[in-house]
Amino acid sequence: MVMKFDGKWLSRVSAVFFVALLSSCATPAVREDSTKIVEAPIVPTTALSSNIETEVTKSAQFEKVSKTNRKPASNAWGTYHWARQTSPATLKLGNCLTNAVWRNHFLQASSDWNSPTTFGATSTPLLTLPITCTPTKRCSMVVGTTQVCNGSYGRNGWLGLASINISGDHITQGSAKMNDTYFSLATYNNANEKQHVMCQEIAHTFGLDHQSVDGSSQNTCMDYFSNTGSNATSTQSTRPNQHDFDELSIIYGHLDSTTTLAGATTLATAASDNTDNPNDWGALRSQSENGRGSYYERSNQDGSITVTHVYWTEDAAAKCPSCDHRPGY
Ligand SMILES: [Zn+2]
Ligand SMILES: [Zn+2]
Repeated sequence: MVMKFDGKWLSRVSAVFFVALLSSCATPAVREDSTKIVEAPIVPTTALSSNIETEVTKSAQFEKVSKTNRKPASNAWGTYHWARQTSPATLKLGNCLTNAVWRNHFLQASSDWNSPTTFGATSTPLLTLPITCTPTKRCSMVVGTTQVCNGSYGRNGWLGLASINISGDHITQGSAKMNDTYFSLATYNNANEKQHVMCQEIAHTFGLDHQSVDGSSQNTCMDYFSNTGSNATSTQSTRPNQHDFDELSIIYGHLDSTTTLAGATTLATAASDNTDNPNDWGALRSQSENGRGSYYERSNQDGSITVTHVYWTEDAAAKCPSCDHRPGY
């Protein structure tokens, strides 16, 4: 399902990510499978960048936690999560949308992620709270929050973008962007496709990954089903499913001694931001087989790491599914 690009990176990290993506509710794989792969010395440590060494360490830590839990492996985005001292905790979502159509999709997604019982789950460890935001195309990150934006970001191939900054295992800030350059085209300009992408990009900033990347519908917004063409009227995959909430409960199965979530008055401009410029995303780490989804990673001067999920358009993916779709790559 996942392709590896840099030969040096055919490491334990990619193997863990691979297992995580393959597993789903229907596949009761346990973390022990991942443990075996993590322990396999496929690549000498010296071949890994310091950045990746950090990743390996994080994976190993995750094993310790999940071995205790013995819960099904699934769609976590690495081991990343917001640090929090209470459960549930609340993530503020900046409502930076420029029009009522997008604002409604945003509010629907926020409401859905706050409604576990609607989808067969009992609870959620992470609530969302829309807050005001002055829309800017750049969609600058704000510490302790996820800023959610739309804009005409150009014909750069991406439909949706989610970025998070990581310090250790903890998410410190996030942004989610929807590209109106494509959403204004007939192919993508429909309520179901917009809801699908909005719901997914926001949830990437919780630390959730896709449940499926092959284009089939698992009836969760965390898959790559396309609500386009003959499926434009389908509401499949426009909202979370129970498995997403189960996964959140695993990711957030512990409390931390500190919090990275913004409180009432702690909003601050982020030190390390991320933009819609593909040259800003860092190195390509993995890509789905059909080319719809890519994962990039960048090391920042302040020691944090920015990871970005890119949701490519059908055209960009189809042109060369195994290529890095960024211009000039
Ligand atoms: Zn933690
Ligand atoms: Zn995605």
